[in-house]
This record gives sequence, C-alpha cells and structure tokens, in this order.
Amino acid sequence: MLIGHQRIWDFLTGSAKQDRLAHAYFFVGSAQVGKLTTALEFAKWLFCPSTKLRTSPTEPCGKCKSCLSVERGQNPDMLILSAKQTDKDDILKNKEIGIAEIRALQHKLSLSAYGASHKIAIIEEAAALSGEATNALLKTLEEPSPRSLIILISSSWQAALPTIVSRCQLIKFLPVPEIEMSAKLGGLSKKEADFKRAIKLSAGRPGLAIQLLREPERLAEQERSIEIFEKILKAPLVWRLEQAAKLAQNTVEARETLDQWVLCLRDRILEISGCADLAVSGRTSGTSAGGYHPGNLLSICREIQKTQSILHNPSFNARLALEVLMTKI
Ligand SMILES: [Zn+2]
Repeated sequence: MLIGHQRIWDFLTGSAKQDRLAHAYFFVGSAQVGKLTTALEFAKWLFCPSTKLRTSPTEPCGKCKSCLSVERGQNPDMLILSAKQTDKDDILKNKEIGIAEIRALQHKLSLSAYGASHKIAIIEEAAALSGEATNALLKTLEEPSPRSLIILISSSWQAALPTIVSRCQLIKFLPVPEIEMSAKLGGLSKKEADFKRAIKLSAGRPGLAIQLLREPERLAEQERSIEIFEKILKAPLVWRLEQAAKLAQNTVEARETLDQWVLCLRDRILEISGCADLAVSGRTSGTSAGGYHPGNLLSICREIQKTQSILHNPSFNARLALEVLMTKI
C-alpha cells in the first residue's frame, strides 16, 4: 500500500504511459518514508495486466499472479539487491553489495522480459555497493540494456557516490503529511493516544508509523532513545563513549536512533524559535534547550547526519564513527 507521494507516482506512471521512462532512477529520502514501497508498487503497475486496458486504473490490482509475484519478490522480470543480512548471526549489520551481485543484475537485465514490457532491478541500499560493484554498475548505467529499468534507493544523500547519482534521474521523497498517514492507517490502533503519538513520532515516514502501531514496544523504544539523547547532551564524555559502544552493536538500529536524535534537535530549535506546537518528539515542554542556541543545534544535526552517512557503508568502523560523534556534540 502506497501512502503519500502522489506526485512521484503520477510522474512515474505518466512517464511510462508516454514511453518516456528513464533507464535509471535514484530514490533518496529518509528511512521508511516509502522509497522501496513506491519502487515495488511501480513494478506491479508496469507488470499488472489490468493497467494495460484502455480504461487503465492508476493503481495495480494487487491480486493477479503478476502483482502477487512482485509482492513475494519472485517475479522473473524483477531483481532486488538488498544490503540486509540473511544470516541470523550477522543480522545487526548491513552487508556489502558485491561485484557478483551486480554481474547477476547485468545478466538478468540483458535477457528478454518473460511477460512484461520491462525488466526491473531494484538496489535497496546504494551506499552498500562495494567499490568494484560501483564501477561495474557505472558501466551498466552508461550502456543500459533496452527496456531495462534500474531503481537505486538510498536514505542518505551524502552516502551515495556522485558518479552513480549523476547517471540517474533523481527523485526526492519528502515526509508524508500527517493527515494522509492518519487517513490510511486509522484502523491500526484502538488507542487514540498511541495512534497520535506514533503518527507524530514517525515524522512523515509511513513505514515507521506502521511499525510503531503494530509493535507497541517499539513506541516505548523510540521514547527511550529520545531520553538517552537528552542525557547525552549533558553527560560526561565517558558516559557518551559507553553509549557509542552500545549503539555500534547494531548499526541498523543506530541509524534509526540517530534519526530520532535529529528530530529531537529539530524540536529544540522550534522551541527556541517559539514554535513548540510544531514539535514531534513531545519532549520540549518544560525542558530547557540545554544552553544551546540554534546555531549549535544545527551543527550537531550536521554531525549526526555525517555519522549516519558513514553508518550506511558496511566497510567503515561504526564504533569509531559514533565515538567521534560523541566528542562533537
Ligand atoms: Zn495485478
């Protein structure tokens, strides 16, 4: 189910109807904002027989064999390269996408489509491409196979290589307005207060809102990560370094935690600017801005975002990056 991003959807489907699709798109935006969902829904739309009719609907049916095969990641005309670990022992860290996977992608895209008009490859985390894989992919982007479409996804603008980005059409995913998320997710929680809190805390990221609504313990974790950040701003360096070591144990969660911290800082800046009612973390009232002024808070935000881009790359030392961050905030 696609929540929000109507303009992006209209742009992609409109380009396909006019046979003017680019050979590669680069989807960039916050984690869980809807980049992968949009890519998969678009793959369904391209493959679904119902969208080929003269009175074609603007959305795929979601029920046919083709739509269901995309949903399960088993469509023969689609390939997804993921940086997520499948090995249970190593699930806490992303893996590199290597040269062998890019060669598999090149082979897949060079074949004729089984039943669809296009072959689609989705690279779930562009920043996880190894150096060799990046070079191989550059060649594919420069000499694309006919009727092939590559969608690269990244939650960090800085983490992706400019040589890759410059060869793709860039699509930026902005946060989804609360009203659109509330309208689509209304049935997921019976408790009105929890529902509102999850929508606020997700800050325009439908994927996170769904997770918070389905797993109430995640809502409590988000609250705890904000509390820890407030402590970090005042705590001695030794305590901060201990927190860095804890965070480094799971880089996937560390990135989510850093996202929450950026939101927290945004709220502090809003509070200082007299706009506390726009805050999302709900932690501003009654708390001081910790002696920081907006300039300091913005520079902390930048440091956190730099660290986030480092954490996207599995070959960097996550603990070192987080320790450096702790010395700067
Ligand atoms: Zn369908």
